[in-house]
Amino acid sequence: MQANLENKVVGIILAGGRGSRLSKFTDEIPKPMIPILNKPVMEYQIEKMKEYGIKDIYVTVGYLKEKIIEYFGDGEKFGCRITYIKEDEPLGSCGAFYFLKDKINKSAFVVCGDVLFNLNIEKFYNYHKSKGGLITITAHPNSHPYDSDLVILENNNDEYLTLSDYILLGYTKEELYEHNDKTLNALNSDFYKNIFNSKEFKELLKNKQKKSNLVLGFDKKQNAENRTNYHNLVNAGICFMEPAVFNYFEKPEKKDLEKDLISYYIGKSKVYAYRTIDYIKDMGTYDRLDIAEEDVRLKKLDTNSKKKAVFLDRDGTINIFKYPHSDKNSLELLDRAAEAIKLFNKAGYACILVTNQPSISKGFITFNDLDEVNKKLETLLGNEGAFLDDIYFCPHHQEYGKEGEVTEYKIVCNCRKPNTGMIDKAVEAYDIDKNLSYMIGDSSFDINVGKNAGVKMILVETGLGAEDKELGGYYYFAKDLYDAANFIIKENDINISL
Ligand SMILES: [Mg+2]
Ligand SMILES: [Zn+2]
Repeated sequence: MQANLENKVVGIILAGGRGSRLSKFTDEIPKPMIPILNKPVMEYQIEKMKEYGIKDIYVTVGYLKEKIIEYFGDGEKFGCRITYIKEDEPLGSCGAFYFLKDKINKSAFVVCGDVLFNLNIEKFYNYHKSKGGLITITAHPNSHPYDSDLVILENNNDEYLTLSDYILLGYTKEELYEHNDKTLNALNSDFYKNIFNSKEFKELLKNKQKKSNLVLGFDKKQNAENRTNYHNLVNAGICFMEPAVFNYFEKPEKKDLEKDLISYYIGKSKVYAYRTIDYIKDMGTYDRLDIAEEDVRLKKLDTNSKKKAVFLDRDGTINIFKYPHSDKNSLELLDRAAEAIKLFNKAGYACILVTNQPSISKGFITFNDLDEVNKKLETLLGNEGAFLDDIYFCPHHQEYGKEGEVTEYKIVCNCRKPNTGMIDKAVEAYDIDKNLSYMIGDSSFDINVGKNAGVKMILVETGLGAEDKELGGYYYFAKDLYDAANFIIKENDINISL
């Protein structure tokens, strides 16, 4: 049983649009009525909302509205109460919100009418509320970022542990350094184990582990020509809004949800992004419809369907190893790496990058340099139709006392592999089932983080893999990432013909 959001949330379905890309259907029926295994998309939406107690649902209708009203009626048959907002002339995706002014005094869960989703609405709601913004959009990467509107997020690095944090907890620099073993064995020291296991430290991390995720804007697809380096992140078509957003509407006129309403509030008020690996797909084209039918058959819409991931090392696993990697232009993908990631994307594995980047603490590169290199990685993958679901990195290193180092990050931390901090963070953020997941990398750090986190580890021969093979401790030794992907797909009997 899910949380009951009945008294806190109303649903809004944007069902007024024409859906011209699916004209074979939409000459006869409006987009929300397009059948997926004989059931309209909108019915799946209502069922999912109802699971979370959302029963007051407003539906904006325009194009062929009679068909929607005839099927859903007042909602009673479907266990909800539907109020229709009727457009006499097309008002864009959200112009009809004008009529909701002063009618809604709860958070609104807003869904585009052609989106099939299996989203943990409770988790999304809690995130929206904890951020305290006016609007929280859902965001995820896609397989064609080069011609999509991209979400641009604020980059802050407040989530990383610093020397000052340790000092605030009552430790002195001298005391910390005394226990930093330059041979990198500090992880075995009781001194640090005790810190990591203390309530204070765990509390500190919990407060730290919040990415800003403030939306700074959208990079529109018409700018695509000038795009050379970007993070692959798009608006997934579902959001939470507070009632104050309706003040934006002064009269019934054509308005677009992203281009007008959300864009208007970016910078004026707080708009956040909720990154998710939950199933959210729009039914905008015919081939997507086929995939959706298959997804329903494969039970991808079941609430308790488990989520699996591959945790991927970066250097020597996806791209050619260089150290320090400070120049985005020198980044090169390894052979078949993009193809491998595409296989994971299709097979339903979230691709989570977990990379040690001690060059930051050593002063060789800045956070910004790293961000540029990571963007390059996403761009090169994106050009091949492959994507990473999220990127985690560790900027720390514990060997102190070198010229040019950044003292704040010259510490023993819980995130530097083989410590499990990055994997732990991802598991919590995305509800990943570790039993179904893998760590893939080219070095002893990766072998050991796999062991420490309790996920199957695949060592790749690329990068340092040929050397570290002797160490043992891995589950499978693969020629490269593509070989690893095929191994996983075979081992789990996954059919990815689609
Ligand atoms: Mg590596
Ligand atoms: Zn770290």
